[in-house]
Amino acid sequence: MLQIQKIKKEYITGDLVQTALDDVSLNLRDNEFVAVLGPSGSGKTTLLNIIGGLDRYDSGDLIINGISTKKYKDRDWDSYRNHTIGFVFQSYNLIPHQSVLANVELSLTISGISKSERRKRAKEALVKVGLDGQFHKKPNQMSGGQMQRVAIARALVNDPDILLADEPTGALDTETSVQVMELLKEVANDRLVVMVTHNPELAEKYATRIVKLRDGRIKDDSDPCEVDHTSLEKPKHKNMGKSSMSFLTSLSLSFNNLKTKKGRTFLTAFAGSIGIIGIALIMALSNGVNTYISDIQKSTMTSYPISIEAQTIDMSSMMETGRRLSGSEDTGHSLDAVYSNGSAIEAVSSITTSFTENNLTDFKKYIDNPDSEIHQYVGENGVVYSYDTKFDVYAYDPDEVLVNTDGSTLTDKNDTNSSRMMSSMGNMGSMGNMGSMMSGSAGNFKEIMPGSDGKGISTAVTENYDVLYGSWPEEYNEVILVLDENNEISSTTLYELGLLPSAEYKEMMTKIEDGEPVEAGTQSLSYEDICSKVFYMVPSCDYYEENENGTFRSIADDKSKMENLLENAVKLKVTGVVRPKEDTETMPLNAPIGFTKGLTDYLISHTEQSAIVQAQKADESINVLNGLAFEPADNNEKIENTKTYLSALGVSDKARLFKDILESVPSGTQSASSQMMDMGEEQLAAALDSYLENPDEDVLLSIYDSYISTGSYDDNMSAFGVVSLDAPSAINIYADSFEDKNAISDCIDKYNQTAKEEDQISYTDYVGMLMSSVTTIINVISYVLIAFVAVSLIVSSIMIGIITYISVLERTKEIGILRAIGASRHNISQVFNAETFIIGLCSGLLGIGITLLLLIPGNEIIHAVAGTTAVNASLPVMNAVILILLSMLLTLVGGFIPAKKAAKKDPVTALRTE
Ligand code: ADP
Ligand code: MG
Repeated sequence: MLQIQKIKKEYITGDLVQTALDDVSLNLRDNEFVAVLGPSGSGKTTLLNIIGGLDRYDSGDLIINGISTKKYKDRDWDSYRNHTIGFVFQSYNLIPHQSVLANVELSLTISGISKSERRKRAKEALVKVGLDGQFHKKPNQMSGGQMQRVAIARALVNDPDILLADEPTGALDTETSVQVMELLKEVANDRLVVMVTHNPELAEKYATRIVKLRDGRIKDDSDPCEVDHTSLEKPKHKNMGKSSMSFLTSLSLSFNNLKTKKGRTFLTAFAGSIGIIGIALIMALSNGVNTYISDIQKSTMTSYPISIEAQTIDMSSMMETGRRLSGSEDTGHSLDAVYSNGSAIEAVSSITTSFTENNLTDFKKYIDNPDSEIHQYVGENGVVYSYDTKFDVYAYDPDEVLVNTDGSTLTDKNDTNSSRMMSSMGNMGSMGNMGSMMSGSAGNFKEIMPGSDGKGISTAVTENYDVLYGSWPEEYNEVILVLDENNEISSTTLYELGLLPSAEYKEMMTKIEDGEPVEAGTQSLSYEDICSKVFYMVPSCDYYEENENGTFRSIADDKSKMENLLENAVKLKVTGVVRPKEDTETMPLNAPIGFTKGLTDYLISHTEQSAIVQAQKADESINVLNGLAFEPADNNEKIENTKTYLSALGVSDKARLFKDILESVPSGTQSASSQMMDMGEEQLAAALDSYLENPDEDVLLSIYDSYISTGSYDDNMSAFGVVSLDAPSAINIYADSFEDKNAISDCIDKYNQTAKEEDQISYTDYVGMLMSSVTTIINVISYVLIAFVAVSLIVSSIMIGIITYISVLERTKEIGILRAIGASRHNISQVFNAETFIIGLCSGLLGIGITLLLLIPGNEIIHAVAGTTAVNASLPVMNAVILILLSMLLTLVGGFIPAKKAAKKDPVTALRTE
């Protein structure tokens, strides 16, 4: 039983108050076929909508089976519509993009009934209305009568208690109208059917009761139903369950909707994707540029590490003075008198004051501490320690002449300025490692930067060189020959290395001295010849041999001993020839021959174990070279030492010493000394011996001070080539980017603040000097790219929002239908969110796809314009995924407000829209 009690409904449009229902009271039986007749505008539809829970009454009450609806909440109404009411409209109101079956299933879908059950019941309902076999047609492929049958099937599928039909035959011809009426009559057999109609004949013929309306009031009722109010209980309130719909359902609903509008959906997605394409392209480009920049940074940092030498010159202050010297700076005075220019003196002073000693031992401790802040910024190539290993490398030239590869063989015997100059010019390495030019012994041999684990060869080296022949060295006794870009090596170097005959070189030098023209020409050597070359490496400590009295002497001048030494020396084999890669800008190998860290390690341990070093370490106070104390306790000991020293000297040494002494004697005794100067070696030595028989102690003391320098323990150790792993000669810290490099500089500054004055580290920041402007430019580029991305982001989100909004406007009618069959507001916004979700996904995927396609010609253009293949715009996978998610997020956000709006739409108004 449905009781309508004194229901009033007014519509207010502007100033006009339209009373649609005016105090209507009507009781409807559970099972009858009521026809509502009345002229247009009499309130029939309004009445039906209120009965159906689609519209709300202003006052009165609607009592459903004894339950008052006064306190109904939205979800109660939704549930009521879904479970109790079936609607049939004049204009069918089927959802055009869904199949007949799906349309019928829809209200079951909203109730959350399983798919198979839905299918079964929808098919049954369709068979019942005579549409067997037409399940998969779209509504627009059917006649009006058929569509109305579908609408009736949809209304019945939930087996509602009440069927409401608003002019169901209004758009149908007579014949079809009769069929539909027959159907409704059948439906009314076991439920309440309320039908609004214009047609009194049809009403007469089929309905069991006719209610006439006029101006919102009931004018006539053919079969009123009186209720004994006293016997009725008071209306109760009871909440209905809720209708529910899963997100998957809304997805499939929206997916089907979009599927029917493929072209439009594609365009929408495309429009949305334009923003994404924009961002993706800029990201790809910025990624390409950033990779390029960081590659450049990395390669720059490879050749320009932060380089801290044990002894260093402050290059920047020297350069400052150089600028002043060149006169490019303002003089600070007018040109009206004679002014002195002191800059040359200042320059000298600045050079001397620029030399500093660094306490690398302490600094190494700082670096070795894993907690030091500096580790965050150290790059791929890590920290590389260099040690001043002392060794000589010998080789036999093509004429079997033994040469020392440091070039001393060539210059010693031909001691001229020009040849010295030539050799030093030949040795000039790249600017990269200025410090190492000053240190080390065999200048043509340099250690190759070890890998980041301290073993093998750094990729920073191998990546920048082509192996022309053979392979990279691996063992400690293997070396590699390094050519320049043109496969060349300076002639001087080749002579020094004994690859060309040294006699030829000396000949040329003689010619130069004589002012004759010299043509060095170009000589060619095969890789095989070079790789069959053997170099003999002699560590400094091996130059000493033990005397019978336990002291050591140098055998460097003893030819036969040297030959024996070479025979047993470590033989360095050339394993290959390399050349810098064509487009490389860094050349970490700055000596013609590179050896591995293995050799350095070998040298360090070999020196440590050598007899002379062991002997020196055994007694740190006595110099193993002459058996004298490093620091004599008093004058007596000094005198004793002088005596021992002098008597141990050979004849020629004695003579030389005596001559030196005589030369320095004051001028008063000039005549006597000049006489003695003419004496032979033997006589001089004898004279010294005789003098020593009864020497003057003061004279001996002064001899000690001037001629006998016992040096120090440290001097000796360094001469023997002893290297402490704790005291590197240089520390090279490699960063991967300029920022990291700056951060490392900051760390060193911080270290300096905590360190003692004399332990502070000073170094030359070559990169800072060379690259400061580049860094600024790179930063500007990055900011511009970020700005671009931000702008395209905003544009695309606005675009996507507008698109979603339009889509909502288009589907207003559908919202009305969904609400009519029981969808809640939440369901509605869910459906729209699902749609924007799909569109967002599509635009994201489309955008990424188009971007990837665009990148193919795009990169060609970049390569052509930039003239380099080093810049490659490419979209990282992570960014692509983020962009797709972003696109979905943007569409969801952009569509959120429209979806909320859609949900708020009054279902009645929504249904009225066409
Ligand atoms: P019927 O279905 O009998 O033709 P309705 O129930 O549709 O009549 O309308 C009853 C009256 O209420 C009409 O005068 C109509 O103009 C008015 N009305 C209906 N809906 C609205 C609305 N949403 N806003 C303003 N007036 C309305
Ligand atoms: Mg109407």
